[in-house]
Amino acid sequence: MSSDQTCTQCGRCCEKWGWGQRGVIEDLLPWLEENRIDILQHVSVILKQKKPCSGKDISKKDLPVVIRIDYWTDKDGRALNYCPFFLRAADGKVYCKIHHTKPKICIGFKPWNEGIRDYALNCPACRNTTP
Ligand code: SF4
Ligand code: SF4
Repeated sequence: MSSDQTCTQCGRCCEKWGWGQRGVIEDLLPWLEENRIDILQHVSVILKQKKPCSGKDISKKDLPVVIRIDYWTDKDGRALNYCPFFLRAADGKVYCKIHHTKPKICIGFKPWNEGIRDYALNCPACRNTTP
């Protein structure tokens, strides 16, 4: 099956899979360098032998001891069951408010490439898959 199908920006993938995901160090680096508190405040980070903290409370020097990164939390560190950067615009399409610096897991997520049926069957860009 082709992997170059056109995304309709329906937002189903972000609604269903855009939270409860794990991050990587490479995500944090640009956010820390650019002081993206707007993003970091929604990230849960565990440093080696420490309790979970907010991404806004760490610095680049902590990166070598990061052992876990979770998306997303509210400003008080409570896990969210939605992505805070999900925006459904007046045109009905969904836009990512941090598109140019979104996590690697979002960049690499292509429902039509996933082997799990549930992904593809909920993506309208995947209608030529065999159910
Ligand atoms: S960060 Fe952007 S691409 Fe990732 S789940 Fe949220 S809205 Fe979707
Ligand atoms: S579910 Fe498919 S069509 Fe909808 S936004 Fe995600 S990739 Fe695009």
